[in-house]
Amino acid sequence: MANLVCGFDILGLALSAPNDIMELSLTEEPAVTIRNLDSFNLPTDPEKNVAGVVLLSIIEKTGRRFGFDISIEKHIKPGSGIGSSAASAAGAAVAANHLLENIFSTDEIVQFAMNGETLASGVKHADNIAPCVLGGISLIRSIHPLDIVSIPAPDLFVTVVHPQIEVRTSDARQILKQQVLLKDAIKQWGNIAGLVTGFMKQEYDLIGRSLEDVIIEPVRSILIPGFDELKKGCKEAGALGGGISGSGPSVFMLSKDEATAIAVESVMKGVYNRIGIDYNTYVTTINKEGVRVEWLRS
Ligand code: ADP
Repeated sequence: MANLVCGFDILGLALSAPNDIMELSLTEEPAVTIRNLDSFNLPTDPEKNVAGVVLLSIIEKTGRRFGFDISIEKHIKPGSGIGSSAASAAGAAVAANHLLENIFSTDEIVQFAMNGETLASGVKHADNIAPCVLGGISLIRSIHPLDIVSIPAPDLFVTVVHPQIEVRTSDARQILKQQVLLKDAIKQWGNIAGLVTGFMKQEYDLIGRSLEDVIIEPVRSILIPGFDELKKGCKEAGALGGGISGSGPSVFMLSKDEATAIAVESVMKGVYNRIGIDYNTYVTTINKEGVRVEWLRS
């Protein structure tokens, strides 16, 4: 999940669910062959699938003659705002590195995976990729040069609602203002510092107070039906706070315990049942491990 409220473009966290499953193997044939095992109809042309783009860039970097076979079983719906493309990109990069006996550093894996994000959204960003690779919460202090900081994540529950509407990332980017008022910037950086400190010191009240975005959310939330009502209801149900996940349409809320996260889910369901929009919800936790690798054969 990228764009963590006040941490637009710089803070992301990994979710325990939903998650994709991919099987990767090395081949002598110098090509990337993709098999989709789900019904999302994503491209099998490696240049048009983020996993393919990542693997091609890895092969090129090694300068060797070999290829990969990959099968992808997605459970994260593309375009949901919860990092569907990043899951494929990060998974492919981590798995390929394992097959290549870990010749690349973590920063290099993130860089390879970012090539996939460029295909998906036209912009090179790491706030989905870094937490997928590293687990937990990541601060992307800088992209050029890459500077990623892992932030110790407290035990928090995450409730996500994905209303089944389309929000194009390009539209969500286009409506943003290119300038901000100094007074808003001051509020925002106070909140980012508060949020990071709250995560590190496990101060839940501070996390709650800092989950405020005065720059992006007021503009973007108009793309998400029922957003204000949803947020108000979730906070009344006990959520610490939350906001738009990625560039939407998914919305997430953080809670201290599972019972609250489930109460928050009921509020989310109530809002979209009343508005009449189909949705999926997830009650999950912060995934502190990131991409998980299992060897199928030695
Ligand atoms: P999300 O909003 O969930 O983060 P993204 O914006 O990350 O979704 O990516 C979705 C876009 O990337 C879609 O246009 C999709 O067709 C394209 N895409 C290409 N390959 C993949 C892949 N392996 N997994 C997910 N999306 C992919």
